[in-house]
Amino acid sequence: MTTPDSRAERATGAYLGLAVGDALGATVEFLTPGEIRRNFAREGGEHKEIIGGGWLHLKAGQITDDTAMSLALGEAILASGGKVKALTAAHAFDSWMRSKPIDIGNTVRRNLILFRQTGIPEAPVSEHDAGNGAVMRLLPVALLTVGRDEAEIVAAFKAQAHVTHNNPLSDAGGLCLIHLVHIALQSGTWNALKAEARALESRYPEYAWSTTRRQENPSAYVAHTLQAVFQAFFATDSFESCLIDVVNRGGDADTTGAIAGVLAGAWYGRRGIPPRWINALDRSIVRRCVEQAERLTCLS
Ligand code: MN
Ligand code: MN
Repeated sequence: MTTPDSRAERATGAYLGLAVGDALGATVEFLTPGEIRRNFAREGGEHKEIIGGGWLHLKAGQITDDTAMSLALGEAILASGGKVKALTAAHAFDSWMRSKPIDIGNTVRRNLILFRQTGIPEAPVSEHDAGNGAVMRLLPVALLTVGRDEAEIVAAFKAQAHVTHNNPLSDAGGLCLIHLVHIALQSGTWNALKAEARALESRYPEYAWSTTRRQENPSAYVAHTLQAVFQAFFATDSFESCLIDVVNRGGDADTTGAIAGVLAGAWYGRRGIPPRWINALDRSIVRRCVEQAERLTCLS
């Protein structure tokens, strides 16, 4: 499959990919691969349509916290003219929490409540908060920081991430995903993507992933999440097959779907996303994703 040459096409692909993966995966979140095969026996044993449902009883095309927090962060960045500030991000996440979202991670909730009490937009350093909650919402920062200095990229990522997840493993995984998105946006090579993903596990062995031993039922632990995403992405050759692979592993499927959607969307571009999936999304979500992708790209 040929890959797109325009950065805008890739940026829009990443943002719509995020929403598509979230909406697709949410249907099977917390199911095991075996349960998915049984539940979708009539569809050939695979879940592959955006139909809503799941434990959240979603409407078809509805998205969850992964996309909602990304959009909240993106809006805050755009409102401040392209700056990523911890306090601005914390206020954006906090007002999102006040809107009574359908789902919210435990670490996110706990540390946003702490922010309300202290006004400090940085969670305490924690060895235990290596969840995927700061990584799932980083796309606006990735789109904004293409081509910037490493120090600026790190500062921007940590400003948003540490509001709720102040953990070295989360930082390493998030920065790796940002670099992968940047490689794709700058029309880098497949081998460059692979080298970047492998560099992560050489520094943090927790992230080691095998091309043969499948990470099934990935948890919200950021290493499990990215192992499933990398396995699915590097073993497939289209947006559609990557997303079907990753969400049918079950577990934290909306988030593996969201992150795989970001990566595969950036790589294959908007035209690589099956139209039936984009058409199934809530119209207002499509509009906000496309608009933010365009505006953040302009600011980069
Ligand atoms: Mn979610
Ligand atoms: Mn999730």
